[in-house]
Amino acid sequence: MKAQPAASHYINGAYVEDDRGRSIEVIYPATGEIIANLYSATPNIVERAVRAAGDAQYKWAKLKPVERGRILRRAADTLRERHAQLGRLETLDTGRAIQETLGDPAVAANAMEFFGSAVASFYGDYVDLGGSFGYSRREPLGVCVGIGAWNFPIQIAAMKAAPALAMGNAMVFKPSENTPLSALALAEIFTEAGLPDGLSNVVQGYGDVGEALASHEMVAKVSVTGSVPTGRKVSGVAASKLKHITMELGGKSPVIVFDDADVENAVSGALTANFYANGQVCSNGTRVFLHEGIREPFLEQLTARTKKIRIGDPLDPDTQMGPLINKGQHQRVLDYIAIGRTEGATLLCGGGIPRLQGFDCGLFVEPTVFADATDSMRIAREEIFGPVMTVLSFRHEDDVVRRANDTQFGLAAGVFTRDLSRAHRVIAELQAGTCWINTYNRTPIELPFGGYKHSGIGRENALAALSHYSQLKSVYVETGDVASPY
Ligand code: NDP
Repeated sequence: MKAQPAASHYINGAYVEDDRGRSIEVIYPATGEIIANLYSATPNIVERAVRAAGDAQYKWAKLKPVERGRILRRAADTLRERHAQLGRLETLDTGRAIQETLGDPAVAANAMEFFGSAVASFYGDYVDLGGSFGYSRREPLGVCVGIGAWNFPIQIAAMKAAPALAMGNAMVFKPSENTPLSALALAEIFTEAGLPDGLSNVVQGYGDVGEALASHEMVAKVSVTGSVPTGRKVSGVAASKLKHITMELGGKSPVIVFDDADVENAVSGALTANFYANGQVCSNGTRVFLHEGIREPFLEQLTARTKKIRIGDPLDPDTQMGPLINKGQHQRVLDYIAIGRTEGATLLCGGGIPRLQGFDCGLFVEPTVFADATDSMRIAREEIFGPVMTVLSFRHEDDVVRRANDTQFGLAAGVFTRDLSRAHRVIAELQAGTCWINTYNRTPIELPFGGYKHSGIGRENALAALSHYSQLKSVYVETGDVASPY
């Protein structure tokens, strides 16, 4: 199986190679096969990409927003037309089941459509100043850098590029070196849609390339999707040069299931909150707080349905869970499962490596559920980023809210209850940027997405993202004489 692109980088509307860069082997996580060989960006490639972006941005920003939006909407159409091809590429790159990845290009397309349309009505204000008046202009920032994680590569690339480009900025994107392929495909689609050269550039590389981009003098903004430690490092670099930032970071989000919840829906929510994308989702609800009064029916159904999850060949449309992204992550998840056992949590199901014929080198882990966990256990405090659910018990509302908030993270939270007053009351108390009532992990482009506390700064999606890719200019217009004391 091969998925070799024409070259490693995409700069100024064309593929570019520089084989002096460090080698990047792109591995299909289901088999361990090398599907592409790329090179990390050298300083020369970084410089070319940033300069190309800087040169193209000025003219792009002069276009009417509706004209910029038209190009993004054309890119959306191509993303939808090519969803089968792009979904397959995403499966080879990430190992995620094709039944999931076939939907990812549509999510990227939604971002193009939303921002391509919304930007035309995202303008400044008129202010009456009593005779004179003022107005504000929404202006682009300039060259923006996007740095992506490996779980949803094309979605992450699109969610950064779409608002940035719509607003009149240029983008230099660095995907995770684990999943470098679909960002290149997206850059090609932009060119086909008529995006002028230089506005969407992709450079490959490890963390050092991300750092070189984030600290470049010509870069006005850095948007990272990644872990909290990376977010801290990049924020530090960006702050020292007073750059704008958006940080979409990790989480250890709570799902609270009250005793009046619909059991089937609550179990569906908990499963989606933990096992979608093999558990590698930033907003996953990995701390399931379960009311004692509903414990038995919930755990019984949860265990039965977890055991039925079909794990195997990611390219088989019936497969529901594929392998984890790389050996390091595989070992890390297995280590956490061992820690959970040692800490004394009850292993309800999973916990092992499934034996799958033809996939001996695949990085699979069974979907795993621990119950009877306590708040101080590491499996209940640290982000595992794999298919491991931790169930904790509670009895009182105020107690569960306090425990749910007792974490450095604040990305997401969910509440399952039939009592809507309670649902809204509890959601209002939870320290999380993205919340759900009676569902989990729904992230429509129309709603802002992002974290409280260490889970992030700024927001993606919705008009909030256009704010974060623009700056406000205030203009005072004098209609009379200048009031001067001199
Ligand atoms: P990492 O933090 O390891 O990496 C994220 C990106 O940052 C990668 O492209 C990485 O490059 C790059 N990077 C690493 N070090 C630096 C540096 N010093 N300067 C600049 N860039 C750097 O995250 P993962 O890729 O492992 O993704 C998993 C994490 O992402 C989880 O914590 C998850 O919760 C979070 N995440 C958050 C989301 C959100 O929207 N809030 C969504 C998806 C994931 P390289 O790959 O070469 O290391």
